[in-house]
Amino acid sequence: MSAPKPHSWIMDLAAYVPGRAKVEGVKETVKLSANECTSGPSPKAVAAYTAAASQLLRYPDGGSTELREAIAGVYGLDASRIICGAGSDDILTVLIHAFAGPGDEVIFSQYGFMVYPIQTKAVGATGVAVPNLKWAADVDGILKAVTAKTKLVFVDNPNNPTGAYLPMSEIERLHAGLPEHVVLVVDSAYAECVTAEDYDAGAKLVERSTNVIMTRTFSKMYALAGLRVGWGYGGPAIIDALNRIRMPFNVNLPAQVAAVEAVKDQAHLAESVAYNAEWRDKLTAELVALGLDVVPSQTNFLLLGFPEESPFTAGEANTYLSERGYLLRWLPGMGLPNHLRLTIGAPHENRTVVELLRAFLNGSPE
Ligand SMILES: *Cc1c(COP(=O)(O)O)cnc(C)c1O
Repeated sequence: MSAPKPHSWIMDLAAYVPGRAKVEGVKETVKLSANECTSGPSPKAVAAYTAAASQLLRYPDGGSTELREAIAGVYGLDASRIICGAGSDDILTVLIHAFAGPGDEVIFSQYGFMVYPIQTKAVGATGVAVPNLKWAADVDGILKAVTAKTKLVFVDNPNNPTGAYLPMSEIERLHAGLPEHVVLVVDSAYAECVTAEDYDAGAKLVERSTNVIMTRTFSKMYALAGLRVGWGYGGPAIIDALNRIRMPFNVNLPAQVAAVEAVKDQAHLAESVAYNAEWRDKLTAELVALGLDVVPSQTNFLLLGFPEESPFTAGEANTYLSERGYLLRWLPGMGLPNHLRLTIGAPHENRTVVELLRAFLNGSPE
């Protein structure tokens, strides 16, 4: 008897584990585990999505032309260098499939977005995890890890799950130190949340070079995670390669029309960004006051560390919060067993998380 056999390297990879939405035995839950944007999407995007119901017998535009043009218009970019995907995960995945295979190396940060190591394994390439520096990517560490086999370098900037970021000068220093045949992927999924003035999402670097791609998403501050739309802005040769291997209709029809309206509604985005920045500051101050180590964040989430001297652990806090319906992301699988990642939620949810953590840390459950 011989059963079908996947590639040997597929069987030792673990599938991506999404943030939890449910706990057994708890009826009502508040999901603060997946960095979704509680402010919600532009009402114009929702209206376009609903109106698209009458068009569902049609294939979508395989080139996402209107969406690429809308993005280009709003951000001042060249539409021909844009590629759209079913979430930026799609773009990240096809990048790895286009540029790496068995024997090749792909570099990313030790604490970074899980899609990079998973898809690296999926193609049989070797992932090289470089320790973070002050929670962000370590430019010198990455440059030291480059070998003749390196094909891609991924930097999530800001970083998920830490929330830390690198200023553009550091991204430029990284690019300057890389050989020209290595593709630098600047994953700017949280670009819209950033308020730091020395940050840049990477478009200008893309335009000045041949080996850089910036990836973006509608899942975070545009609040359309359920639709699955992301995009990349890269050197023409990179975009050409990705267009050859992506699925021909990778962005569905309702997603395309809704994303066009979302990107045009910059007033709605600005409100979500302001709300996020306000609560990011408030929550950081309140959680630091409780004695937690909060990594300064430029995203829509906070990484909370439980101090070593504390008798309370992140795992226990996670259980305590889950039992009360509050779902955060505990990160032992990522090598951060004493940290929780908290997505910024609605005002009453944020206040409740602080109160629950206060009660937990005081050892006096309500
Ligand atoms: C959420 C996230 C993405 C992608 O999300 P999509 O929903 O696939 O667009 C990419 N990179 C990072 C770092 C993220 O946190």
